[in-house]
Amino acid sequence: MKKKVYYGKVPVGADSIITVQSMTNTATADINGTINQIKSLESLGCDIIRCAVPDMESAKAISEIKKQIEIPLIADIHFDYRLATEAVKMGADGIRINPGNIGDRSKVFEVVKACKEKNIPIRVGVNSGSVKQTFLDQYNGLNKHSLIESALEQVRIIEDCGYDNLVISIKSSDVRLTYDSYTLIAERTDYPLHLGVTEAGSYSNGIIKSAMGIGSLLLNGIGDTIRVSLTDTPDKEVIVGRKILQFLKIRPYGPNIISCPTCGRTKIDLISIAKEVENRLSTSKKDVTVAIMGCIVNGPGEAREADIGIAGGKGEAVLFKKGQIVKKVREDEIVQVLMDEIEKI
Ligand code: SF4
Repeated sequence: MKKKVYYGKVPVGADSIITVQSMTNTATADINGTINQIKSLESLGCDIIRCAVPDMESAKAISEIKKQIEIPLIADIHFDYRLATEAVKMGADGIRINPGNIGDRSKVFEVVKACKEKNIPIRVGVNSGSVKQTFLDQYNGLNKHSLIESALEQVRIIEDCGYDNLVISIKSSDVRLTYDSYTLIAERTDYPLHLGVTEAGSYSNGIIKSAMGIGSLLLNGIGDTIRVSLTDTPDKEVIVGRKILQFLKIRPYGPNIISCPTCGRTKIDLISIAKEVENRLSTSKKDVTVAIMGCIVNGPGEAREADIGIAGGKGEAVLFKKGQIVKKVREDEIVQVLMDEIEKI
């Protein structure tokens, strides 16, 4: 049976809903800036937020930040165990550490003791850049075996301190290595898995890598919480994370827009119409499938699963609902008519 942990009230693992995480990019010590960013991410659907804690000022800021946000906060700590114990004292709902860079066992033990007292999860794991040399030597370089053995060693360090409130991550910037490593570790452990393709790159490349890596694992039933990592603003990470879950039908987040690629039959400006509809529905929470199709030949038929849609003609389109044509609409009225009809659903 897979284990379940709780970040505050949010469960992760076993039968829990898959959660979306992101990380703030404000200085955590900038309390107001960090609160504002977290609130904005909350409103976009972020379930769990992580903040870097590089110094004591950041650790102490957690107390005030926590008072003004709704979602659980994970403190991300490296090197200094005192930052971890302080973050826990200040009310962090979980911590992310790499026991290997915290120092000797007595320091790790202090961190575990603090987490144990509050019963908060510790996420451990490796990035492809942090695999220990001994594992690289033992398993002939960086591969799924050296990655997961390195991660499991960290798990054992925490377990040896008498704690098993854990989440594991094994991140690589390589999609296939990410997929192979998580697939293998899922067979070896019952701990919840935090999925992500790390350092996935800027917006477009990062989306593709994340969708492939995270999506393929989720399709195989692997993974309990996800973080899309983009060299961009965290709001985009949350939106992409939501879309991955939405398109896999794991969580409904709002309208699903399907649109045809256009071809020689298209006689209306379908690309602009699709963009406008997508834009206008970007904040809608309505669980509706909308089809934007270029022509009547394949339109309603190809989009039969849609609740509502249009199929273009010359300077006009037909509006259809559940595959049945309802009426004709002039090209310049298409977007508004669609919006009005969606509103009624
Ligand atoms: S729906 Fe019509 S316009 Fe769009 S790609 Fe198919 S055939 Fe072409």
